[in-house]
Amino acid sequence: MRIVVTAKYVPDINTERGFSEGRVVRTAGEGTLNELDENAIEAALRLVEAEREAGRLGPGEGEVVAVTMAGPDGDVALRKAFQLGVDRGIRVSDDALAGSDYFGTAAVLAAAVRKLGEQAPVDLVVTGMAALDGLGSVVPTLLGAELGLPTLNLAKKVELADGALTITREIDDVTESLTASLPAVLSVTDGANQPRFPGFKLIMAARSKEIEVWSPADLGLDPAVAGTAGARTETLSAAPRPARPEVELVTDKGEGGVALADFLIRNDLV
Ligand SMILES: Cc1cc2nc3c(=O)[nH]c(=O)nc-3n(C[C@H](O)[C@H](O)[C@H](O)COP(=O)(O)OP(=O)(O)OC[C@H]3O[C@@H](n4cnc5c(N)ncnc54)[C@H](O)[C@@H]3O)c2cc1C
Repeated sequence: MRIVVTAKYVPDINTERGFSEGRVVRTAGEGTLNELDENAIEAALRLVEAEREAGRLGPGEGEVVAVTMAGPDGDVALRKAFQLGVDRGIRVSDDALAGSDYFGTAAVLAAAVRKLGEQAPVDLVVTGMAALDGLGSVVPTLLGAELGLPTLNLAKKVELADGALTITREIDDVTESLTASLPAVLSVTDGANQPRFPGFKLIMAARSKEIEVWSPADLGLDPAVAGTAGARTETLSAAPRPARPEVELVTDKGEGGVALADFLIRNDLV
């Protein structure tokens, strides 16, 4: 069983984020692995571990490979992936890829999966449900379309049996069960699992683990399909929302109704 996990480098949501020319400013050293991709990594690791426990994988068999499309800072995301137990990390990088939109991102990630597939068969591609900076939630579907693979999205439960992947997902008040044969693309929600804490040994090993860097040329990819040149969308503007007005708290000691009426009158709300 060989699984590719997509791991995006995103600005830390706990830090203040800025925009420049319609793009998120990705300041060096302030980014991290997209938190929702930790669920994807956990799902992949569990599937491989389950195959090992069932005796369907021999010693040394089974691999989880993390792929990111990012600048050199993206190594931060891959090192975190190593800490969690990922075996191999690949960063697809090139100045020409800057400005990639959803289609460009999916084209590049798909090309990386295809290249990995030339080395040894890829059974499954697992992604998070969204990147916490872009929040498009479309890359998994576009990736499945690029690869021509069945795509199961927003899984809350994942099961693998007899070469078929079955997921359960919850949409409004409906619980759906979907199945597809492998190879396939899968996106998991943050409810799919609880990502593990990195162990000390893996933290130490992650520091010196090799990160492979691939260029569009290594992937046989025309850089014009991605980057600003290939973008089919354009951000017209991006600006922080104005700060919320201060909240007025009233401690109700019996006169709350009067205070509420007073607030509504003062703010011309009646
Ligand atoms: C005109 C334009 C220019 C842009 N320029 C840039 C830019 O210069 N730099 C930039 O970083 N973003 C840029 N973006 C944003 C970029 O297009 C999106 O971040 C990217 O397409 C992924 O979309 P998303 O973040 O909404 O991912 P989603 O669809 O929300 O992501 C779902 C899952 O896909 C996987 N995934 C998504 N992106 C990556 C990735 N890069 N590597 C690995 N896995 C991934 C993750 O597993 C993630 O959980 C630009 C967007 C537009 C519209």
